[in-house]
Amino acid sequence: MKRIAVLTSGGDAPGMNAAIRAVVRKAISEGMEVYGINYGYAGMVAGDIHKLDSAAVGDKVGRGGTFLYSARYPEFAQLEGQLAGIEQLKKFGIEGVVVIGGDGSYHGAMRLTEHGFPAVGLPGTIDNDIVGTDYTIGFDTAVTTAVDAIDKIRDTSSSHHRTFIVEVMGRNAGDIALWAGIASGADDICIPEKEFKFENIVNNIKKGYEKGKNHHIIVVAEGVMSGAEFAKKLKEAGDDSDLRVSVLGHIQRGGQPTVRDRVIASRMGARAVELLRDGIGGVAVGIHNEELVESPILGTEEEGALFSLNEDGGIKVNNPHKAGEELYK
Ligand code: ADP
Repeated sequence: MKRIAVLTSGGDAPGMNAAIRAVVRKAISEGMEVYGINYGYAGMVAGDIHKLDSAAVGDKVGRGGTFLYSARYPEFAQLEGQLAGIEQLKKFGIEGVVVIGGDGSYHGAMRLTEHGFPAVGLPGTIDNDIVGTDYTIGFDTAVTTAVDAIDKIRDTSSSHHRTFIVEVMGRNAGDIALWAGIASGADDICIPEKEFKFENIVNNIKKGYEKGKNHHIIVVAEGVMSGAEFAKKLKEAGDDSDLRVSVLGHIQRGGQPTVRDRVIASRMGARAVELLRDGIGGVAVGIHNEELVESPILGTEEEGALFSLNEDGGIKVNNPHKAGEELYK
């Protein structure tokens, strides 16, 4: 393979730039040319494609966001969209693609591979909700940001004997809440993967203040419900403490990536290039027990594929990711 491209797709995550940089530098060292595709699959179809040399990724390793921009482009799930993208890849002489994104983006990579353009997926999202990897690029940074914010909330919470509900991101996954909650010493952590009772939380709050605690921090994953709704239900269940809600929001998506995110992004980016160099596509790179692993994106469960086709043509997730699994290993 002489010429490859790289794109970021779906939600952005800190560390994506480090992955792009690694793809570019590794590919050049392997004698390949690299093109950047702006705005994910939308930019592929629009031909928003430009050559990246080594200098183009200078000073990018520590920058948040993605300098290739990201976009959602549902049309790529349709054959017409894919063929339009392939036309552009042919025009630029691109033979393989590295796709940095989530589950949806992986499906796009699978389709490209089926059409004869090997594509490799890298897990980029703060939510840590992608199958085939213990950790995603961006998760460590998002948790670090959340912990920093909760530490600050704790200061003010203690000064006023307040109860704080802190809503964190994660879509349907509780990983950010779980890790940030443990690391910040939260009193309660509520995640979508585990049932809880509001009455128990009300009791925890009461007992804590009776014992002389001067604050109570509850970390709630957005996949459970909004912080505002949680507060309403807590009051309905009998909480009489001085309650406040803080929604951390998009600060969790930005900022300089942590060392860990930079390193796993760099390792994964380099591995993606090695795979394309060897003509391998339709796989996603992950990290398992600190080692890089690759899994077929689509196939049978026995093959270790991330997704399988149901008899009715629907897509089934094999071994869905569960929040906190890696904590209990
Ligand atoms: P994420 O990659 O973070 O899961 P999305 O689900 O929004 O985010 O997917 C990102 C993009 O990947 C979509 O906007 C679309 O361009 C492409 N995509 C999603 N699903 C498919 C699919 N089934 N086939 C081909 N491309 C897809």
